[in-house]
Amino acid sequence: MSSPEGDEVAGKCRVMMHDGKECAREAYDGAGLCICHSGDTNKDAEAIQREINAMLARKDYDFTGFVFPEGISFRDARFEGDAYFYRATFQGEASFVRATFQDEADFVAATFQGEASFYEATFQGYAHFVGARFQDKAAFRATFQGPASFLAATFQGEADFVAATFQGEAGFHAATFGGEANFGWATFQGEASFGWATFEGEVRFRGEGEVRLFSSEAEADFRNARFGQPEKVVFQHVFLGRARFLDTDVRRVDFTDVQWATRRGGHCAVWDELAPEDVEKDYALIGKLYRQLKHNYEEQRDPITAGDFHIGEMQMRRLSNPPKNWLWRFLKRNLSFLALYRWISGYGEDYVRPLAWIVGVILVFAAAFTLSPGRALQSSAASGTPEPVHGWWPRLLHSVMCFLWRGGRPFQPVHLVGHYVSVAEGIIGPPLIAMFVLALNRRFKR
Ligand SMILES: [Zn+2]
Repeated sequence: MSSPEGDEVAGKCRVMMHDGKECAREAYDGAGLCICHSGDTNKDAEAIQREINAMLARKDYDFTGFVFPEGISFRDARFEGDAYFYRATFQGEASFVRATFQDEADFVAATFQGEASFYEATFQGYAHFVGARFQDKAAFRATFQGPASFLAATFQGEADFVAATFQGEAGFHAATFGGEANFGWATFQGEASFGWATFEGEVRFRGEGEVRLFSSEAEADFRNARFGQPEKVVFQHVFLGRARFLDTDVRRVDFTDVQWATRRGGHCAVWDELAPEDVEKDYALIGKLYRQLKHNYEEQRDPITAGDFHIGEMQMRRLSNPPKNWLWRFLKRNLSFLALYRWISGYGEDYVRPLAWIVGVILVFAAAFTLSPGRALQSSAASGTPEPVHGWWPRLLHSVMCFLWRGGRPFQPVHLVGHYVSVAEGIIGPPLIAMFVLALNRRFKR
């Protein structure tokens, strides 16, 4: 073999391989690198393919630092042990179509200058693509039976994970998607991490029918993710009951037929709030997420879900900035105006509750008029000599009239205490009615 310069190059290639030994192939270029490691773009692809086939035949899968020219193929290859492509460079298309990796696949810090096609590839062990760089399209319509890590990987072209299956963890933490990121019909059976990821283009997480993408058993983490074009980010027909979006701007993201987590009472909630955690949660941040989701669903003209997130926002407001003193904390969480707002009308989202309060208050006060000493009620002076009144019906009528601030009442309390009770009921009445009207309005007018 001759070097590009035409001079004989003496010596052996000294690139360190995975096992810690030197490559020791015959030097090929001026830098003393062998034909497999040389960065020369005019290398003889056929010669390299022959070398690769020989390696595959003897089950030598150490391709550490190799530079593969255009025309090299690993199509249908079967790697029966750990496969090392650490820091390898693919100058043309990297074809691993229908390849099977029976053990670990190490593509850490590999560079794919052309398309990376892993169509129908199967990774039975750990798939390491940490820090890999895909300069063109990356096609991973593949099956990952073990964990897959694309930590800090860079996808400069389209990232095509359509119908990919991740049976273990799928880690895209801090990955960068410069082009379209398509995870349509993919299946994540383990944890899916997209925390701190950057999406510059279109993003598609789309399920269909039974395929809801994310698992109800494992979390989908989108915390601190950044969407460059949020209006082109789509979550459709997906399960987000275990998804976290804390510190991610989701105001303009398209959520359609999304299944959120649910709190007691069946209202939608975010997993960031409900997840059992040892540390004190950042209620202010979770509240911000709720506010954004509420805004999002209001824009979509979905008042019911927007209302659910309004409840979340109010809950977080009630729980955030807890006073140090336990008594104040208890009072803030249970007896503040916000707490009362919650008890009485579910933060203005529930109109049945204030209605129940109204009925309850009227009944309780009707009973209170009987509990007063002596004959509590008497007929009004205006209708002649006052006479004692018996039975429930007059008391109920009196209670209703106090509640509604109605004048011209046919009955009067006998004692001063009874008058005070009437005034108290008159104070409670109007706010309850207002809360009922507001909740009714909120539910049907939006
Ligand atoms: Zn070498």
